Amino acid sequence: MTEARAIARANIALAKYWGKSDIPLNLPAVPSISMTLDGLVTETTVAFEPKLRRDRVSLDGRTAKPKEIGRVVELLDRVRAAAGIETRARVVTENRFPTAAGLASSASGFAALAASASAAAGLAWNDKRLSREARQSSASAARSIYGGFVELPAGKPGNPRCAAKPIAPSSHWDLRLVVAVTATGRKKVGSTEGMERSRKTSPLYDAWVERAPKLNAKVRRAIKARDLDKLGQAMEQSTFSFHACAMSAAPGILYWQPPTLAALHVVRGLRDKGTSVWATMDAGPHVKAVCEAESVGKVKRALRKAAGVTNVLSMKLGDGIEVFR
Ligand code: ADP
Repeated sequence: MTEARAIARANIALAKYWGKSDIPLNLPAVPSISMTLDGLVTETTVAFEPKLRRDRVSLDGRTAKPKEIGRVVELLDRVRAAAGIETRARVVTENRFPTAAGLASSASGFAALAASASAAAGLAWNDKRLSREARQSSASAARSIYGGFVELPAGKPGNPRCAAKPIAPSSHWDLRLVVAVTATGRKKVGSTEGMERSRKTSPLYDAWVERAPKLNAKVRRAIKARDLDKLGQAMEQSTFSFHACAMSAAPGILYWQPPTLAALHVVRGLRDKGTSVWATMDAGPHVKAVCEAESVGKVKRALRKAAGVTNVLSMKLGDGIEVFR
């Protein structure tokens, strides 16, 4: 086998990941739980070609930038070492995302790359191994190997065997994610840098790492019980805790924009009027609201009216990786 294609979907964390316990191994300091999202697909084809003198990477129809190529080559090198080959590869990858939705491209990107590259190299890695290898490139990618609701435990420093595990399939609960897009353009402080600055300088970092497992367990229990109010409370606390941690770093990291606050108040306003809808955010300005299928229309209409919100998208739960040999 020298060529394989895989698709993977992005995910959104309900219990947030923020902070690393081991940087070289890329281990998370806290456990996290996500839902995999339908419609946010990355498709990646990897072909090992003996004629190539170095790896070639095309990302969204253009030659990838040196830094992007570096992250891809690092994963390809681990695949080559495991397969005992030295052949260089041609990688063609596309993130089929609604533009500027602020949804994690590295999650689906590295899940699809781990699956396609290992299959192309003739390795029969199971999902656990794929998750572990994807995690080494991007912790959130570990969760995109699986569909539905997925947990990534915290990693013990020095132990590379940290992988995600599925906790419920997408059929378990028809939850929806409504994304309020609040700004375009790249974030000023990347996640890795933000996490490290938080760890080194935020007076709230230790409290976050200590409390995160409890919030994570609440999220897990609420998912199992399909209890949206309980899930929402723990999920919002997780989001606001990690943002507070980032904001209180030195210098402070502020991902919020004015429309972020407007959208957060819309979510609260809907709740005050009896709709169970709850907010989560990543390291960026967009607000993501979680609700039941029956509330999607109302939530979308309300968020469209929030000052400064430029686009509103809704998504269902999605499946895990698919590999085509
Ligand atoms: P995001 O929030 O979109 O995940 P990050 O800055 O964490 O933002 O990750 C974006 C990086 O992930 C890109 O700069 C690139 O290095 C990598 N990436 C994104 N999509 C792909 C892909 N399809 N294949 C390989 N790498 C990708």
